[in-house]
Amino acid sequence: MALHVMEEANRCLGCKNPRCREGCPIHTNIPEVIRLLKNGKLNDAGWMLFENNPLTTVCSIVCNHEKQCEGHCIRGIKDVPVHFSVIENYISTTYANQMVKGPAPSNGRKVAIIGAGPSGLTIAVILGRYGYDVTIFDSKDRIGGVMRYGIPDFRLPDAVLDDFAYRHLELKGIRFRPNTTIGGAISLDDLFRDGYQSVFVGAGLWRPKTLHIKGETLGHVAFAINYLASPKAFRLGERVIVIGSGNSAMDCARTAIRSGAHYVTVFNRRDQIAASQYESSYAKLEGVEFEMLKSPLEIRDDGVVFADNEFDEDGKLHPIPGSEKLYPCTGVIVAVSQELGSNIINTAKGLEKEDGGIIAVDEDGHTSRPGVFAAGDIAHGAGTVVHAVATGKRVAEAMHEYMQSLPLPEPSPYANVPRVEPVSSSVIAEQAIGQVYCKTKSSSEGKRVDYSLGQNCRDVI
Ligand SMILES: Cc1cc2nc3c(=O)[nH]c(=O)nc-3n(C[C@H](O)[C@H](O)[C@H](O)COP(=O)(O)OP(=O)(O)OC[C@H]3O[C@@H](n4cnc5c(N)ncnc54)[C@H](O)[C@@H]3O)c2cc1C
Ligand code: SF4
Repeated sequence: MALHVMEEANRCLGCKNPRCREGCPIHTNIPEVIRLLKNGKLNDAGWMLFENNPLTTVCSIVCNHEKQCEGHCIRGIKDVPVHFSVIENYISTTYANQMVKGPAPSNGRKVAIIGAGPSGLTIAVILGRYGYDVTIFDSKDRIGGVMRYGIPDFRLPDAVLDDFAYRHLELKGIRFRPNTTIGGAISLDDLFRDGYQSVFVGAGLWRPKTLHIKGETLGHVAFAINYLASPKAFRLGERVIVIGSGNSAMDCARTAIRSGAHYVTVFNRRDQIAASQYESSYAKLEGVEFEMLKSPLEIRDDGVVFADNEFDEDGKLHPIPGSEKLYPCTGVIVAVSQELGSNIINTAKGLEKEDGGIIAVDEDGHTSRPGVFAAGDIAHGAGTVVHAVATGKRVAEAMHEYMQSLPLPEPSPYANVPRVEPVSSSVIAEQAIGQVYCKTKSSSEGKRVDYSLGQNCRDVI
């Protein structure tokens, strides 16, 4: 760690009206956390962080600190701000090892969460603490949403999310149903049929926005969110052009460099880079080139045709006629943001949309359909992890209030049917003798094999 945690903590003035806290979208009580740490109460500081923000470790890594807590710190006015991100990361990762408690006692109610991104995970954790029987559904095979399938591993290691899955979900009895798209074989109505008293929709924005120009379907073109989900699956070659200049464009450019591209150039329509200063400076450091004021006109097999842009008197951008040039490349990444692509809205009855296509919600996340709540990017547009957590916290309380107003679910009509005792595993093993093929040396000789059932297994080939 580049900065010594206690030296940073000792620089904190413990302000009575802490500007850092105002700058934090989730209002972390920064001076109090630092005070506890300085008094040797690391576990109390850790408990406080996780109570306020279940994704505190992730936020210590991926938040835009220079615009949030650290950008507001009073010490930053004349000097360098207190780097709370370093302190938060140290406390949360150290304290996480203490988080081994099992599930809270059940309150007899089931709740469904669609989407294992930061909003869904936050709500799952909070409702789990209240004793709800929580099941998370996700189209992907692992939890995290954009945190896992968008933000590259070199910025946010998968291990952080795996640890979250173990401590906050598995140990707490929260179920995760992977590879399951709601709005496909299972609908929102099916969830209510199966006894979930309330459903949270946190499905994010996953459909790439397109440029609407010729060539976007060519084989050497990728959309940012598809590329970042599995960069190794794409063959973009040595010379890559990234179109767009936001944070996800920086992630694509830096990932392309790590995936073997020798020349990566980011093309931007405007004269300023949209990504944060930190992200673009890392990209430059790693060798990414930038071309400003260029509009893409056509993607070809051998490169991209761009025109130079200029501002008119009203400040609007226009391509300059005659300025078109071909910029050769072997691969193209289109990184111009995402929009709603989820089939939930289209298949679910009674869910109203806003103009931009996102789900219409009030400030506590109530949708137009009773019992269905939404937060995160699908309800507020493209945001950040900490905003998804912050809105998720409010919505979790609204869902709790809603479910507590309902009677407890009726028991199943089949609750008391006679039970068939399962066969014990040793009986299965005995029955299986002679029916299985064992993995033996002969397998490498091309004969049919199956899996061994231990010492009773014999080669019957
Ligand atoms: C490339 C990139 C980099 C980013 N970098 C940062 C960063 O550094 N810092 C930061 O704070 N923010 C960053 N963001 C923004 C941030 O990640 C998002 O704002 C945040 O993840 C949104 O959270 P969410 O809970 O709304 O949903 P998401 O994270 O989008 O997760 C939604 C989940 O729902 C699942 N899902 C979708 N439809 C269905 C369905 N029908 N059924 C079941 N499951 C479904 C998806 O598989 C996904 O797992 C970045 C975004 C991108 C695209
Ligand atoms: S504003 Fe800076 S100095 Fe004041 S409490 Fe926050 S971190 Fe400490």
